Amino acid sequence: MLSFFGLYWKNFTFKSKTILSLKLTSKFMKKFLLLFLIFLSSCSFFEKKQEIKNQTEVLQKYEDKLIVTWKILEFNPKNLDFKSDDSITKFVWKEISFTNLKYEPNDLVFLSGNFIIDTKWNQTLRLEAFEKLDKLSKDFYNDLWVKLKIVSAYRSYNHQVWIKLWWCWDNFCAKPGFSEHQSWLAFDMFETTNKEEFLKKYKKYFHWMSKNAYKYGFHNSYSKWKEIDWYEIEPWHWRYVWVDFAKYLWENNLTFGEFYYLK
Ligand SMILES: [Zn+2]
Repeated sequence: MLSFFGLYWKNFTFKSKTILSLKLTSKFMKKFLLLFLIFLSSCSFFEKKQEIKNQTEVLQKYEDKLIVTWKILEFNPKNLDFKSDDSITKFVWKEISFTNLKYEPNDLVFLSGNFIIDTKWNQTLRLEAFEKLDKLSKDFYNDLWVKLKIVSAYRSYNHQVWIKLWWCWDNFCAKPGFSEHQSWLAFDMFETTNKEEFLKKYKKYFHWMSKNAYKYGFHNSYSKWKEIDWYEIEPWHWRYVWVDFAKYLWENNLTFGEFYYLK
């Protein structure tokens, strides 16, 4: 084969030999360049891969550190602010009122959610409570195909004075300045004639709220009878207390009042 190529090569003129050599060289160069480029790109690929690996390790270490820090700063409900009037976790009870009896927050919004029915058309809640209620009502609707009916949200000092004047006794309605409704963080859902009727008629809704409301920061304030909570059981009365705290109360099966006096 080689001798054949040798004879063949001898017959070529100098010019054609040069052209053929150049052609062969350029073909070789092209292949060489291609291989070289592949080599370079694979080098940079492995380099990049290593860089990503290093980054992931650094991030992992950082995350581990964060988790450790979080464990050190573990949520402690005893450190919450139960006293300031505008605190999300302000505690109001039969003997504990707002410091300013006529307190009104300044971050109020209308109950404009698509899955909320505001039976009074103009009710308001504090912004944070409404944002969470909006999310809650969407999931409530998705699961039960019913819009959340809010029959009573805020009740100002004067409104509570009016209620007390007409019909409501102390175990059932707070005195003016002593009502969770005045925090603009609480609401009553569906019709609230009496607890037996409510639990019979809206058992499914109450059950859903008992299982899920804490995930949005809401808590059923009066659920253990007056021996513990002072007030009668009110399955319709839900109050926003902040997600972490609501979760804590739910997990420990405590009402706000029970927690406050046990802490
Ligand atoms: Zn209520």
